[in-house]
Amino acid sequence: MNKLIFVSGGVCSSLGKGVAASSIGALLESRGLNVRMVKCDPYINVDAGTMSPYQHGEVYVTDDGAETDLDLGNYARFTKGRLSRANSVTTGQVYESVIRKEREGKYLGKCVQVIPHITDEIKNRILAVTTEDSDTDVVIIEIGGTVGDIESIPFLEAARQLIHEHGKANAISVHLTLIPEVASGELKTKPTQHSVKSMQETGIQPDILICRSPVMLDESTRRKIAQFTNVDIDAVFTSPTIDTTIYQIPIIFFEQGLDQVILRKMGVESRHAKMKPWHSLMERFRAREGKVRIGIVGKYMALHDTYTSLYEALFHASLECGTEVEFVKIDSSSLEDKEDAETILGEKAPGGGVDGILVPGGFGQRGTNGMVKTVEWARKNNKPYLGICLGMQIMVIEWARNVLGWTDADSTEFSPDTKHPVVSLLVEQINVKNYGGTMRLGASETVNEEGSHIISAYGMNRIMERHRHRYEFSNQYRDDFLKSGLKLAAFTPDGALVECTEWPHSGEARHPWGVAVQFHPEYKSKPMAAAPLFRDFIAAAHREKIKKN
Ligand code: GLN
Repeated sequence: MNKLIFVSGGVCSSLGKGVAASSIGALLESRGLNVRMVKCDPYINVDAGTMSPYQHGEVYVTDDGAETDLDLGNYARFTKGRLSRANSVTTGQVYESVIRKEREGKYLGKCVQVIPHITDEIKNRILAVTTEDSDTDVVIIEIGGTVGDIESIPFLEAARQLIHEHGKANAISVHLTLIPEVASGELKTKPTQHSVKSMQETGIQPDILICRSPVMLDESTRRKIAQFTNVDIDAVFTSPTIDTTIYQIPIIFFEQGLDQVILRKMGVESRHAKMKPWHSLMERFRAREGKVRIGIVGKYMALHDTYTSLYEALFHASLECGTEVEFVKIDSSSLEDKEDAETILGEKAPGGGVDGILVPGGFGQRGTNGMVKTVEWARKNNKPYLGICLGMQIMVIEWARNVLGWTDADSTEFSPDTKHPVVSLLVEQINVKNYGGTMRLGASETVNEEGSHIISAYGMNRIMERHRHRYEFSNQYRDDFLKSGLKLAAFTPDGALVECTEWPHSGEARHPWGVAVQFHPEYKSKPMAAAPLFRDFIAAAHREKIKKN
């Protein structure tokens, strides 16, 4: 029987439950176990795809095209286990399928209820992951939200039943709480005591506590927590606030023996832990010299979570290139006037100028003219540029307006009646009416052209990357762009869709490194293997910065 680890949270949200669950996964993998991760999200949306980035943060896309919670991105960065649609369970999906079965008469006249029908559906979805791959040893199930929330009750009830059915040796509960510090500098354990009480009310006794705290908890605080919560003192751990990187958390947990306690509780023989990759990562982190400043000019800049994978990919690239990366976050709406780009991005800007520009994904017209101004500035000032999804569409629009001289050129997403629709709806999207799950989604193959930056980044001509968009480069203009010097650097295998554009490598319009792609390379970036385009982008920004000085 596979082992189950349920990870829940209490006191408040944003304690780093996803990173804690992922770090446990990483530690168990380092001991040779095969781990799969599941996220249960109590919201009623079927998936994260229709939610505003400001409500929800990033939508993480899997190979099979599921639009999931950003925690799946954490799982992908910390662990190796396969992630697909099956690894993201929401209340919306659960109810959708229970109601469908009810309409099909599958419940044979029964009254359909939260217990057992909703909870059974949740349990079946979790159990499906445990059997999907025959070599799975452990499944870690993170329950979103905070204990005490009305929405999470069915998920906790499903967890309680599974723990009971599997037995304590096969299923355990890890609970994450907050130990706040009050003005006097004292650490307070009361919220943790209450949080564990709420867990106990659901019928789950946490086996392990991870306490988020400004500092490492001392023995007497841990003893006090243990006493009030029925948790063994050696099972009370700290997740201290750190100023390094989230990738240090597996090491911090390892040093406290968290993985050993988990293995002991589940009766798994302890194997030697291979922590070297995490230690070398921290060595690379500390050895970085100098820094490049990257202007990220997008629509949803006020919330870091909106572009989690993107910021992580930049960080992975910084580890690989041996230089720090400073994020200069700029709301593209602030760049509407002509001189704004130079004032905000140029050398005289507060904090100094930026060494590279990244325009990330986004939807809707707001702020897109500011992005066009930014991209024009990057092109004319030889600043390395990476455009992602919307960032590629903006590269195309900028070129059309300023090089081809079609001043009204635009995407039909932003100006439906433009005379030069250089970006337009994908053919398959024309009759699509619903918003949820209907974009071009998930992994597909891209073929890179010889002599392009993209082929040298990947070192191969056929790559698989993930998409999430409705609009594309308009093929009717291919010749105009090619003749004027824009490189069409990658295509779908049938040649039908342009997947990458690059600024000229040679001649008068030569630019050091300007690459934009219709897919999202950030989703597959790993701390120990940065996404190739992010790596080469940071390397180019670094190179150009040194050249200038
Ligand atoms: N709004 C654009 C489209 O749908 C870009 C999407 C994105 O950046 N993910 O094509």
